[in-house]
Amino acid sequence: MNIVRVALDLPLPRLFDYLAPDSDESDIGRRVTVPFGTASRTGVIIELVTASEHPDDKLKAVTAILRDMPALPAEWLALCEFCARYYQAPLGEVTSFALPPMLRRGKLPRVKKVAPAVAVPPASTPAAVHPPALPQLMPAQQAAVAAILDASGFHAMLLHGVTGSGKTEVYLRAIDAVLAKGGQALMLVPEIALTPQLEGRVAARFPGAHIVCANSGMADAARARGFIEALMGRARIVLGTRLAVFMPMPRLQLIIVDEEHDASFKQQDGLRYSARDVAVWRAHQLDIPIVLGSATPSLETFHHASTGRYKMLELPERAVAEAMPVVRIIDTRREKLQEGLSAALLAGLQQRLDRGEQSLVFLNRRGYAPVLACPPCGWISRCRRCAANLVLHLADRRLRCHHCGFEAPIPRACPDCGNVDLLPFGRGTQRLETMLAEHFPDARVLRIDRDSASTPKKWQALLATIHAGEADILVGTQMLAKGHDFPRLTLVGAVGADAALFAADFRAPERLFAQLMQVGGRSGRADLPGEVLIQTEYPDHPLYQALVEHDYVRFARAQLDERRIAGFPPFSFQAMLRAEARSMEQSLAFLAAAREAAAMLPNSLADGVTLYDPVPMRMQRLMTLERGQLLVESVSRPALQAFLAKWMEQLYALKMPGGLRWHLDVDPLEF
Ligand code: ADP
Ligand code: ZN
Ligand code: ZN
Repeated sequence: MNIVRVALDLPLPRLFDYLAPDSDESDIGRRVTVPFGTASRTGVIIELVTASEHPDDKLKAVTAILRDMPALPAEWLALCEFCARYYQAPLGEVTSFALPPMLRRGKLPRVKKVAPAVAVPPASTPAAVHPPALPQLMPAQQAAVAAILDASGFHAMLLHGVTGSGKTEVYLRAIDAVLAKGGQALMLVPEIALTPQLEGRVAARFPGAHIVCANSGMADAARARGFIEALMGRARIVLGTRLAVFMPMPRLQLIIVDEEHDASFKQQDGLRYSARDVAVWRAHQLDIPIVLGSATPSLETFHHASTGRYKMLELPERAVAEAMPVVRIIDTRREKLQEGLSAALLAGLQQRLDRGEQSLVFLNRRGYAPVLACPPCGWISRCRRCAANLVLHLADRRLRCHHCGFEAPIPRACPDCGNVDLLPFGRGTQRLETMLAEHFPDARVLRIDRDSASTPKKWQALLATIHAGEADILVGTQMLAKGHDFPRLTLVGAVGADAALFAADFRAPERLFAQLMQVGGRSGRADLPGEVLIQTEYPDHPLYQALVEHDYVRFARAQLDERRIAGFPPFSFQAMLRAEARSMEQSLAFLAAAREAAAMLPNSLADGVTLYDPVPMRMQRLMTLERGQLLVESVSRPALQAFLAKWMEQLYALKMPGGLRWHLDVDPLEF
């Protein structure tokens, strides 16, 4: 009796058996539609078995095995199985997530010719179609390329170099070699917004190669088509955001993760995976090299490179601009600021205006002001659904919750006391934009944040404006920090950065350093020297001092020392159990029960694993749900993994009050 074992997208950690009389081994990895309850579902065939734990006469038959595209290869299934195991998620949720939505639904895009046999494209000679002028590699680049090409089998490498040091050039050379051998290359980038320009650069370099993009912003059919082209080996280069790590690529020979430190590689909902970590596992499994590139590597990656687990490849110099920007710290303790801006920064801006150069003022907070307040009675604008303030947006005269999306018109008067003089407190990008426009009436001020660049089209239009030189002063959030060349930009001012120095999250300084380094790297890329001014009330803080010296390594070592003493990652491994319910009591009670359940596990499993007390999350209410968390920690990853697997079985069996939801986040990034 032929039985197929199917992964279905259900929150149950098991597979589902169906009769499939006409199935054979070649159907493993195919999509299949099956009856489930009263509905029909599409899943993926994981295994073929001859006997089921369920009596055969209880088994239903599959509706149809979809043989309209090549089966997903064993390597792809193994990747999904790893994610299911490592992130403690049902396999069906992983396979479903890893498939583009259209394929997940059992549909197929129109493709020119989807032959079941994988067509092997000729091993092209990319050199022949190259545009002639490739830059002569600098010695450090040469060494990095050689190290990547010499790596036979699995090697994880950290390519550490500041913006403009020629990392992308190194990637392109390595990809070139892979294409010449007939292989496929996968390149992951943090932001959708970055893919078009990178795609342009890659396409220009490899005009003969079929390049496919993969990101969540793409139309359904295009994404599904790209997936199938990668699966068939037709696509030679896959470029994409984190979800591209799941692209099936039968001849994958190289993985690149650019800006590997970027938090967007970690998905924060649903399947909470880290695409960077999954990519490293995949490279290991395929026995191929992986290059992690960054100017400010994550401390995890830097630690691996320092201890020799990863190979360290350094690009110490910029490829084009002669020098790094000069970083200066502006001590604002004894200065009366004008709308948050120091005299030094205002003078710097004026100077750039006079010279016809561009400036950027970086403030990582969008909106006009973080809160609207009524000073006489103490009312402040709060979200009804979240433990958060409503942010004042003057551009369209709304109050908005940045957590749940709730919005309301600005009240004419205080809802509590009727006072009509409500005051904005604090400062966001809109307020800075207004202030700069008033202070520099002749300047063209352009704001770039998620509000002004709410669609890819608007974002492209803003970039075009900047490139055309039609903006003098840019005001923006970290959106502006990433991967864009603005040749006339010579001054970067950072305001409001101090908040991150003392944040409760132990990763906040790491993120701040990366952001400031990155945003500073926007200045002075061409023949114009750049300058970075950082306003702070803590001018002696080691983080800022390291920035002045452009000394990532010093900063990283100091941070790692602190983490070692505190026992934080990478010196320990963590998982976070979170629960949300109508009341905090319910959430915390569930977490307490989860903790008690763990105490029932055999000592051999619980040994070396620490469970902390359940506590309310820092933002304890989101969308009317009260949220709690329970941190689990161990110095041994295998010990933590073994514990989590058993603990999950207990968690699935725990009684829950109606409306309670929970999830486990392995290697959580946010606290
Ligand atoms: P990164 O990715 O580190 O920011 P890029 O590879 O984009 O750096 O290089 C920055 C700029 O320098 C690009 O315009 C690139 O074409 C150029 N470049 C890179 N390597 C060289 C080189 N060896 N000689 C001349 N120009 C180079
Ligand atoms: Zn809200
Ligand atoms: Zn009031």
